[in-house]
Amino acid sequence: MRTIERTVTVDERIGLDLIAIPAGSPIELDLRLESVVEGVLVTGGVRADTEGECSRCLEPTSGELELSLTELFAYPDSVTDETTDEDEAHRVVDELIDLEPVVVGAVGLALPLQPLCSEDCLGLCPECGIRLAIAGSEHGHEILDPRWAALAEKVAGDGDDGGDPQGRHTRDQQNTSSANTDLGSHNEAEEK
Ligand SMILES: [Zn+2]
Ligand SMILES: [Zn+2]
Repeated sequence: MRTIERTVTVDERIGLDLIAIPAGSPIELDLRLESVVEGVLVTGGVRADTEGECSRCLEPTSGELELSLTELFAYPDSVTDETTDEDEAHRVVDELIDLEPVVVGAVGLALPLQPLCSEDCLGLCPECGIRLAIAGSEHGHEILDPRWAALAEKVAGDGDDGGDPQGRHTRDQQNTSSANTDLGSHNEAEEK
């Protein structure tokens, strides 16, 4: 059995859209490699710091990720090698194992799909989008009953009846007349 206790620096960001281990930050590996009948069994832990964005209030968040791994890397010509596809089981290739896809995959599964800055994050006001944590407890909006809103629209519409629709009507007439045959008849009139 071999153990790997190593801190590696990630070249590229590893994670999901909203939260990830940022590029250039360390990942601590504490792994055991055991030779078993079918291949090399890798077990152990991975630890790293994460950075992301709260899915409720969109503020930056940071945290820590710890996960445990159990992965078999199949020996060439083992039963596992012969009975699984490439994407089902990892392989020992030229007596080496590639831990990177294992770690990347495990990190992706361990990270929360909807990270939060805190468990009780209040999120954003659905009306105006302000962060409720800074908006204060009295923050709110006067929301009209939909029936009143309809009435308000009607009242506003009645008020407009005097001028606007008529104005639009005359403008429409002018538009059609200038676009249609009137233009021709004007020309004729001018020519005569
Ligand atoms: Zn939040
Ligand atoms: Zn608001």
